[in-house]
Amino acid sequence: MSTPKNPFEIARETLRLLAARRTAPTPDNYLTIYHEIAGTKAVGHVFPEPQLRALANALPKESPDQLRVARLLDEAIKGANWDDYKKHLADFIAALVESQKLGWSELIADLLRQWDAKHPGLTSARKRESLEHVLTSSGSNPDTLYTRLQSLLRSWGSGKDGELGDALPADSGEASTPTSETTPANAAPSNSLLPELRELFAYTLETAMATQLIESPSLSVAAKELANDIRSARTPAQLKEFLTRLKRFSFKLELLAEDRAELRNSLLGLLRLLVDNVTELVLDDHWLHGQIEVVRDIIDKPLSQHALDDAERRLKEVLFKQAQLKASVSEARDAIKHMLAGFVDHLADFADATSDYHDKIENCATKISAAKDISDLETVLGEVMRETRNIQINAQRSRDELRITQQQVQESEARIKELEHELAATSDLVRHDQLTGVLNRRGLEEIFSKEIARASRHETTLCIALLDIDNFKKLNDSLGHDAGDEALIHLARVCRDTLRPQDTVARYGGEEFIILLPDTSLDDATTALTRLQRELTKKFFLHGNDKVLITFSAGVTPLQANDTQASALKRADGAMYNAKQTGKNRVIAAN
Ligand code: GH3
Ligand code: MG
Ligand code: MG
Repeated sequence: MSTPKNPFEIARETLRLLAARRTAPTPDNYLTIYHEIAGTKAVGHVFPEPQLRALANALPKESPDQLRVARLLDEAIKGANWDDYKKHLADFIAALVESQKLGWSELIADLLRQWDAKHPGLTSARKRESLEHVLTSSGSNPDTLYTRLQSLLRSWGSGKDGELGDALPADSGEASTPTSETTPANAAPSNSLLPELRELFAYTLETAMATQLIESPSLSVAAKELANDIRSARTPAQLKEFLTRLKRFSFKLELLAEDRAELRNSLLGLLRLLVDNVTELVLDDHWLHGQIEVVRDIIDKPLSQHALDDAERRLKEVLFKQAQLKASVSEARDAIKHMLAGFVDHLADFADATSDYHDKIENCATKISAAKDISDLETVLGEVMRETRNIQINAQRSRDELRITQQQVQESEARIKELEHELAATSDLVRHDQLTGVLNRRGLEEIFSKEIARASRHETTLCIALLDIDNFKKLNDSLGHDAGDEALIHLARVCRDTLRPQDTVARYGGEEFIILLPDTSLDDATTALTRLQRELTKKFFLHGNDKVLITFSAGVTPLQANDTQASALKRADGAMYNAKQTGKNRVIAAN
């Protein structure tokens, strides 16, 4: 039989041979017999499916792009389409080369740039922490590392700390329960910390957050729920869901903070308004004006518990004293009004009486000029004498009454003075020294016990200083008592201006002052007092045009575990005495 030449004949012969040899009619068998008849070779054209599938299986399938390529290759294998397979494979390799060649160098350059750049609210420690997090959580997968690094840099650039979201693992399973069977070896160090970190986070939400939100019950509940969520979150999907809820929670927290700030501002506004109005109302009393100025000063500065306590105390004093003064002054005013009315009445009576007297005397004068004999004159003179005596008695009575009135006014004035004095000396509410404006002994006692409690609560050091002006008696003797008073006011002012707002200044006695320095080591407290000494050499006390240098001797001591106010003050006093003994103008620390 001649060898068939055209494809039609080859095909027919192939089918015949398949039937004759009882070979299964598969495409491969058909192809083999076809080439046998045609005398051609089949090897180069057979689609090497097993090899290509093995190759496709060996490629990574972690990122969405890689998964897409795997799917395309699979389709090409199923269709035995070498051209498609070749094209997808070439594209994949080209993209890989491209990403490694271009992307990484740019990304690293960007990383260096962002590392050095300043981002509000992002310290370099925080950057290091989030970078390390991304590095460990991405394991050895360059693709994941690349995308996470990219979004980390984006979050730094945008000012949002997106680290948490970026650090969440993709679908690689790295966030699932870290049992020894499922944890990839390279992720073990970071994953082994996950339960502890999760618990830490839950604790922060439940204890630190929720207790701060007592005034917002719904947010407090939300914080506790989030704590439970993070405890039970195991899969990446649960973590993502948690993150969404956490973001919503943070947003609500932000709103709450804004609300609170607004509320605080309105309250401060109200307080300012009140203080302004009290100023209008207060009587002409320097002490009250001084107190109100202090309150205004306090509320104009950044708020602290210490400042608010101080403002409250001073306001109470102002209100109390004002009420007392108002009552006593209106009493006195009524008395004076009453007296004036009485005096005017008397004046009118007196005027009536004198005009009556004038009429009568004129009448008498007419009678005298018309008198014909001495007996007529006698009668008229008797009348004049009588009228004059009457007017004399009247005038004397008025004078006596005026004197009594005057005495009453003086008594009222004295009573007001006495009241004021008594008030300043004995009132339970007055806690400030009226000369210098700093706390008096009673005020000090109150603050002292608060500071002792605060120091033990926060486990911080409270230092106590006692200072006594040097040679004050000499200053009084040479410049006068008033100058001495001014010097005390000056010292108190320099103390207030030089020390921190949270430090307490009190006048302990004549020319002795106590200073409480919370949260301060003994060294720092000694330095603060030395600075105060230096300040006094710069800010001279001016007496007329003369510069007078005031110096003091001081003892400083830290509060100790079993100290009472008295025992701490005694130690400070001992150190102050030492300073006096060893030459004055010194600060001595007693531990
Ligand atoms: P030393 O350096 O040892 O402390 O001597 P000193 O003169 O400062 O101390 P001393 O205790 O001998 O005198 C204190 C003086 O302070 C006596 C007293 O008249 C005066 N003094 C106390 N209170 C006041 C006050 O309110 N105003 C004025 N001007 N003087 C006062
Ligand atoms: Mg003294
Ligand atoms: Mg003294």
